[in-house]
Amino acid sequence: MATATYDADLKLFVNGAWHASEGRDAQPVFNPATGATVAEVPLATAADLDEALAAADRGFKTWKATDVEARAAILHKAADLIRQRTDRIATLLTMEQGKPLGEARGEVAGAAQLFDYYAEEAKRAYGRVLVRPTGQRSIVIKQPVGPVASFTPWNFPVYLMAKKLAAALAAGCSVIAKPPEETPGSTSAIVQALADAGLPADVAQLVFGVPDTVSRHLLASPVIRKVSFTGSVPVGRHLMKLAADGLKRVTMELGGHAPVLIFDDCDLDRTLDMVVPQKFRNAGQVCVSPTRFYVQQGIYDRFIKTFAERTAAYPVGNGLEPTTKMGPLANRRRPDAISALVDDAVAKGATLAAGGERFGDGFFYKPTLLADVPLEARIMNEEPFGPVAVARPFATEEEAIEQANRLPYGLAAFAFTENGRRANRLGDLIEAGMVGLNTFNISGADTPFGGVKDSGFGSEGGPEGLDSYMVVKAIHQA
Ligand code: NAD
Repeated sequence: MATATYDADLKLFVNGAWHASEGRDAQPVFNPATGATVAEVPLATAADLDEALAAADRGFKTWKATDVEARAAILHKAADLIRQRTDRIATLLTMEQGKPLGEARGEVAGAAQLFDYYAEEAKRAYGRVLVRPTGQRSIVIKQPVGPVASFTPWNFPVYLMAKKLAAALAAGCSVIAKPPEETPGSTSAIVQALADAGLPADVAQLVFGVPDTVSRHLLASPVIRKVSFTGSVPVGRHLMKLAADGLKRVTMELGGHAPVLIFDDCDLDRTLDMVVPQKFRNAGQVCVSPTRFYVQQGIYDRFIKTFAERTAAYPVGNGLEPTTKMGPLANRRRPDAISALVDDAVAKGATLAAGGERFGDGFFYKPTLLADVPLEARIMNEEPFGPVAVARPFATEEEAIEQANRLPYGLAAFAFTENGRRANRLGDLIEAGMVGLNTFNISGADTPFGGVKDSGFGSEGGPEGLDSYMVVKAIHQA
């Protein structure tokens, strides 16, 4: 059994100083592969949050006035430090979140890329000039929106925290980041890298706490001008209501229930080679995880047989083991949630083609495939956020599109076909923020990422991600 040390001294970071528990409430951090407690994370008090707000207010005034080249240099330096510290950050991530070490290393690399990308993109926050025949000129400029409250989830704690911090800081905003209490060590390492890179003391604050207490406190303050949240639809709705009172701008990256349309004219072997690792990446705890497999009837049986064989043979274990391809679920809540969804589907007539049970001391659930799942099963309607694929046959392209669009979610969707004109139609007609045609590769630092319908709105990644932290001002001069 591979061993490693959970090497994190968990603290809050407010106004450039690290604060340990020191009488604050604290919450245990678990290793999901063993269920053991590895550390305790301090929870912010109301006084901590007030101090963070005051610091973010001060930090915004100096940071927005800092030359963009100087801001970019700090972000590049943070990227370098994150890369140098990959082994430590990835080990913390695996030990507190569960994902295999290889995936954790990839996530850290992605976080570093985000800082590099936004360091450069900050230099391209261009405006425009309108010239009137009267001689009047109108100048349109972009300015940072103000101090940001950012709330990130536990599924990609390092990458998603970097995505919000890199874009906000590049735009010239100060930030109060509240990452998930389940994964504090790896997320703290990102803030440490920024501090070590020379970020001024009051620009980025890191607080852990009781999520509802923290968000209510921060969103009630006039200091916060923008809220960026990644997480579930109900919490997104709740935060939007809190943000409404202060008319704060919001970006909501919420849940998904990605359909995958597999047509009988696809390259089935190539498709299956991609499907299985994608479904079980991060144990399915991915907002764009391929989930609802609609397979054309002529290839349905072959697809299910191969998918089930590979699912049953998928190597699951402690993410520190080199042979592991799928780790445990991230927290104690997830195996219970997944069990309930699978049991409900089977009770309503679905066929359990592979998996379908918990195992081990930690929070493990076997990679699972359910076939012929009735539409009324909960799992056909609620985001499973776990290692479960559901499959149903379809006859026509129209039926497949209708099924893809039947849920209120609209984050990612995928389709596999070698027919180019059909691929064009699918790209146009599927209601989603992102459509992958013959690919699952839909994310990157330079790529807008976000949803439609109940999956939220606003993009992260790409120039759109920078714009979401900026306001437009028109200056007219005669
Ligand atoms: P949850 O709804 O309790 O929490 C979701 C996230 O929001 C967590 O990171 C949590 O810390 C945070 N949160 C909860 N209440 C909050 C509040 N009042 N203010 C600020 N932040 C708050 O669910 P959970 O059990 O942690 O996660 C399960 C569900 O969350 C999944 O089913 C999935 O739909 C969703 N989720 C989505 C993403 C994503 O990338 N879009 C990531 C993680 C979780």
